[in-house]
Amino acid sequence: MRVLVVEDERRLASGLRTGLEADGFAVDVALDGTDGLWLARENPYDAIVLDIMLPGVDGHRICATLRAESVWSPILMLTARDAERDEIRALDAGADDYLTKPFSHAVLVARLRALMRRGAPERPPTLTAGDLRLDPATHQAWRGPNPIMLTAREFALLEFLLRRPGEAVSKREILAHVWDFDFEGDPNIVEVYVRRLRAKVGRSAIETLRGAGYRLAADGG
Ligand code: CA
Repeated sequence: MRVLVVEDERRLASGLRTGLEADGFAVDVALDGTDGLWLARENPYDAIVLDIMLPGVDGHRICATLRAESVWSPILMLTARDAERDEIRALDAGADDYLTKPFSHAVLVARLRALMRRGAPERPPTLTAGDLRLDPATHQAWRGPNPIMLTAREFALLEFLLRRPGEAVSKREILAHVWDFDFEGDPNIVEVYVRRLRAKVGRSAIETLRGAGYRLAADGG
């Protein structure tokens, strides 16, 4: 079982190496984000232990980039104590689990073994239109190689449109699927969100059809 450790605190990194090797793992260590990302792309690791605050590329970005490139090695993120936001962001970025520093070596090994047993999870297919992509499993979207940061509602709207590229969808359908079937607020909320989404995915991606609703360009715009 081969593990990549990406950690810039040298003492912790070397302690992890020694401990994991003693437990029978083959271990590679990267002391910054750039090396870590490179190693993770080049080698099929059985698991990756990934710190968040790293010189070069931070852990969230590494995780999101790997997932965007369909590298599914299980990732265990190391988060700072009491940083609940870090934990949520870690999972949003596509990490499989997280462990709060400081942690015991036994707990780390147990979590790693659990991740390895589970293996790389099967992901539902990514939705695409041209170079616009969205992964419903990891809640991420990209234009080409660049991640698009979306709120939950913007994400749901883009996902709905991407499930029907090139088709006209009415405001009412959007309201029913992205908001609620019994939505009773101002239907113009859809326009507001379409405008916000256009600002993030590109104006030409979503066409307004007079009186009929909207259409996502089949080629992504
Ligand atoms: Ca660090």
